[in-house]
Amino acid sequence: MGKKKGGLTDSHAHLDFFGSDSKIEKVLARAVENDVTRIITIADSLESSYRAVELAQKHSEVYAAVGVHPHNASDVNPETLKELERLAKEPKVVAIGEIGLDYHKNHSPHLVQQKVFEQQLELAKKVKLPVIVHDRDADADVMGALIKHGTKKGVFHCFSGDLAFAEKVLAMNFYISIAGTVTFKNAGVLAGIAKFVPLTKLLVETDSPYLTPHPYRGRKNEPAYVRLVAEKIAELKEIDVSAVEASTQENIRLLFGIA
Ligand SMILES: [Zn+2]
Repeated sequence: MGKKKGGLTDSHAHLDFFGSDSKIEKVLARAVENDVTRIITIADSLESSYRAVELAQKHSEVYAAVGVHPHNASDVNPETLKELERLAKEPKVVAIGEIGLDYHKNHSPHLVQQKVFEQQLELAKKVKLPVIVHDRDADADVMGALIKHGTKKGVFHCFSGDLAFAEKVLAMNFYISIAGTVTFKNAGVLAGIAKFVPLTKLLVETDSPYLTPHPYRGRKNEPAYVRLVAEKIAELKEIDVSAVEASTQENIRLLFGIA
């Protein structure tokens, strides 16, 4: 991996999926060794929201997002939303996420996904936090819901749309987060998007433990590898990786208020 300077934030990792505290501590140590100094751990259920908050309390480099993934939308009831609201007010909770729509896997019915997405957009508004959006094959409905609820601050995580959709996302003043998929050999469209999106609107993430970047495919992904994503973006934009570090750190500050 490349030179260490400036530091990086993994804007999207699922630390709870790494298991025990001792396993997570090793993952965090390797991140810090690679100058990945901050990790936002993302929830996908109420259960993982509790764990995210706990991990943020335990580790200085960890921040948390709380929310329910569209896959788990069917599990949400009014009590869930009350608990999420309580958790959202805990220190170091910096976003509501990940929330959105997934019409690819359809683990929950579309109507249920839409209702729960909208409820969490309202929650974000109420607690004044940005949203971390999961959008899989649901561009129009995701955009429609964001507009309907007047959601102003957020990021499309693991961006997988086309260039036309990236333009719409930027027009809404949202951020676009690039994952390790940009390092894959068949990353044509995403590589084009990484080139096109201005540094002022770009974040980097691992979505670990999934989507391990090249050349570590086959291994479990982890936050340290976000450096490979930043290096690939630098290569595509023909700039120094330090510029990607500086701009993504500034974007993290502006979006999530992490100084
Ligand atoms: Zn995720």
